[in-house]
Amino acid sequence: MISHPLPGKIPRIDPARCRACRRCPARDVCRSKALRALDPGEPPWVDGNRCYGCLACVPVCPFGAIDVGELSGQR
Ligand code: SF4
Ligand code: SF4
Repeated sequence: MISHPLPGKIPRIDPARCRACRRCPARDVCRSKALRALDPGEPPWVDGNRCYGCLACVPVCPFGAIDVGELSGQR
């Protein structure tokens, strides 16, 4: 049976830095729709079941709110 490899790094949103932008460019670049947000005005979060660890979202946030340091490799 072929198993789906877990991504090496799952980013997380730092709520202290996130400004809950009306249009989040990091959500726009995520091809797997792993950056989720329920309501406008609330910071998004990373859905570990969808994220494949490409890290494309990290440099896109203009406020440096997407972090891969502490939680690398965790789900
Ligand atoms: S992650 Fe960055 S771009 Fe997205 S809502 Fe938060 S501050 Fe804005
Ligand atoms: S690392 Fe890639 S898949 Fe995961 S949330 Fe960021 S852009 Fe989406």
